[in-house]
Amino acid sequence: MCDCRSEVNQHLCAHNTRLSTAFSCVENRLVGRLIVATEKIDSRGKGRPLIVTPSYCPFCGEAIDGGANKIIPLSQGEAHV
Ligand SMILES: [Zn+2]
Repeated sequence: MCDCRSEVNQHLCAHNTRLSTAFSCVENRLVGRLIVATEKIDSRGKGRPLIVTPSYCPFCGEAIDGGANKIIPLSQGEAHV
């Protein structure tokens, strides 16, 4: 597993910024995952927009958690890309 998220957060910290993270329950443990920003197409539509998490690091391309995303069932409101 790469360390890109920590390295990018270190650079962003000087600007009071960090990457957004969503938490998923995987095999009885809480795992923080990088999320891709999403928004509603129609702001008056029902519900919240889906949460999207990448299966590969957007900075170096390495599979996140060794491709574990492929076996994680999607919870309602979450999609892996
Ligand atoms: Zn990376």
